[in-house]
Order: sequence, then C-alpha cells, then structure tokens
Amino acid sequence: MIFIKRRGNECAKRIKLRLYPNQTQQDQLWQMFGNDRFVWNQMLAMMNERYQNNKDLPFLSKFKLDYLLKPLKQEYPFLKSSDSSSLQVVNASLYQAWKNFFNDKTGKVGKPRFHSRKYLKNSYTGKSLVRIASRRYLKMPKLGYIKTSKTDILKDTKIKRYTVVLEPTGKYYLSLQVETNPVKPFKQTGKKVGIDVGVTDLAILSNGLKYPSFDGSYYEKQAISWQKKYSRRRHSAQLLCLQDKNRKVLNPRSLGSFLNWQKAQRTKAVYQAKVAAQRKDYLYKLTTHLVKQYDVIVIEDLKVKNLQKNHHLAKSIANASWSMFRQMLKYKCQWYGKKLVAVDPKNTSRICSKCGYNSGEKPLNIREWSCSKCQTHHDRDINAAINILNKSKACIVEL
Ligand SMILES: [Zn+2]
Repeated sequence: MIFIKRRGNECAKRIKLRLYPNQTQQDQLWQMFGNDRFVWNQMLAMMNERYQNNKDLPFLSKFKLDYLLKPLKQEYPFLKSSDSSSLQVVNASLYQAWKNFFNDKTGKVGKPRFHSRKYLKNSYTGKSLVRIASRRYLKMPKLGYIKTSKTDILKDTKIKRYTVVLEPTGKYYLSLQVETNPVKPFKQTGKKVGIDVGVTDLAILSNGLKYPSFDGSYYEKQAISWQKKYSRRRHSAQLLCLQDKNRKVLNPRSLGSFLNWQKAQRTKAVYQAKVAAQRKDYLYKLTTHLVKQYDVIVIEDLKVKNLQKNHHLAKSIANASWSMFRQMLKYKCQWYGKKLVAVDPKNTSRICSKCGYNSGEKPLNIREWSCSKCQTHHDRDINAAINILNKSKACIVEL
C-alpha cells in the first residue's frame, strides 16, 4: 500500500491486491485487455488519417473520441463486454499522447504508436464502481463477484479508479486508487538527523547508525540466470524455425510452439517481481522507522548524483533504491507531520565535520580518514552525514 498525495482533508492512496479470476473471468479479462488495444488502435488509425489529410486540423478532444465509442460498439459488439469507462480511459490516454506530441517543442516525443498483442503486460483501467461483496470478494463491473487477497484495507475508503493487470508472471492484480481520511501524525521527538546514502549501507545517519542496503542477491542471481536461459532457448528455437522454413517442411514449427523459452521468460519475471517487491517492502519499513524517530530529516539534493546514467549493475540498483527511499521519505514526512530538508551535496564528503577543513576529494575505497588539520579520525560516511546535517542550518530547500 502506498500513499501518493494529499488533497484537502482526504488522502489519495494506491492499494494493490491479488485477484483470483475463475476460468470464465479469465476469458472475459482476456477479451477486455484486447478491447482496450482494439479501441486504442482504431481511434489512433482514425486520428492518423485525419492528420495525414490535413495537418492543420485540430486533433479530436477526449469528448469527441468518447462520442465515437457508440457507433464503434455497434459495429463491433464484442466491445460491449468491456466496462465502458475503461474504453473512455483509453480515449483519455490517447488524447494525452496526441497532445504531448503536438505540444512538444523538442522533437523528442513521437506520434502515439499502435499497441501490439505481443505486449507482455496486459491491463485495463476503469472508473466504474467496485465494491466489497463479502470477505475476500469484490463485485466488479462486467466480471461480477471475484475473489481477491484481502478486503479489510478497503474499509473506509472511496475507490476512484481501478486497474486490472495480468503480469508476465501469469498472476492477476488489481491496483486501486482510493481516497481515505488522513492518518494521525507521529509524535514529535525533538530529534534532527542528517542522512547520507551509499551502496553497501543504504542509509548512514549523522548519529552513527547505519542501515544496510537490501540484499536481494539470491533472487537477482536467479533472475539473471533465467534471463540467460531465456535468450539462449529463444535463439535456438528461432534457428529451428528458420531451418524448417529453409527445408520447406510441410508443417514448419512456429516460435510459439516451443514452450521452454516461454517458461524461462515467465520464471525470469517471477524472480524479478520478487526482488522488486521485497526491496520496496524493506524501504517502506525503513522510511517509516526513520520518520517516526526524527522530526527533521536532512538529505542531499541528489538530482545530479542520482540521475547520472550508470551502467554498473550494483550502482544502478542503488540509484533506484535511493530515489524510492527519497520519494517515500517525502510523502511520509508530509503525511506524518515531519520535515524533510534537502541540502546542496557539494563538498559533503571532503570537509572535516569537526573543524571544517576541506582536505579534497578522497577515492571511494577510502572508508576512514584523519583530518590533517585537527587530527580527528572520521568514518567517511558518518562524517558526510554530519556535514549534511550541519548544512541544513545554512542552505535549506524544504521538500
Ligand atoms: Zn578537522
């Protein structure tokens, strides 16, 4: 469960639940995923044609696109099996994609593209009513009663929109955007802390505490090994297909008829999803813990440091964790009545936190050093965290 933003007295939250559709519902869902793609492609083809005929015509508004749904449904009755609000959501995102394309001055945003069936992730979003039918059962538009993982957390919430996803792992999920009453702020503790982020230790605190990075190496290794199996198996399947074709075999095999590469693809996705979920959970607990302990949390403004493209695996994982860590701290501080402050990262790892002497850059492998002026012995990361805390007194960008 994730809190996303606060609006007036109500708070928007995202909740993700598992769905257990029966066979009929699975068939229905498959049709609905396809309908979304179909409407997107139909509308897009029409808009492309309009654009080619006359480039100066204003593109169609969302309202006009919605108006076209009715004749489309008459022509293609299978569209009636979808929650009609989901087709409107498709129109809204298509409209947005065109708008982005037209308003783009940089020339980087391309025209919206057609959606292919080959997408691994299938989903649709609707805005109609979803309600709790009984314990672990929801009533959903067009699908009726459907089994889910839990319904308790939906109490006292208002569901704004829902998304059904079939993930590459073969599991179905329901992602809900809900509004709830705000939770109570945490007690004030009078404590202030500076936090430096790192690769081995994710968070290093100015008071000397260190919190290690999440260790997902087991599942990561599995994911990488299955990724390799997937590419190898797919490649050899491709070769066999080509062979059949060249030999003009009567019934040449297709790529889809080889199951082993598809299995490898699913297994890889399962492991990737596992690591991601566990890492998120770890960060979720850690940030709640920190926000509970401290009234003011000072971090580095990592815009530069964080967004640098990095090809080193451990580093890129750390990058992803840092931005999630920061994002979670940000909304939790808002949520629980605490303060998050970002300071300029310049020189935080070079200055002695005791006397302020700048002894220059130190290579990353130097974990401890002594100040050449006041002789204080420093742990590299803790010293940086103290500098970050000290900096908050001078230059403050409140988040
Ligand atoms: Zn010093």
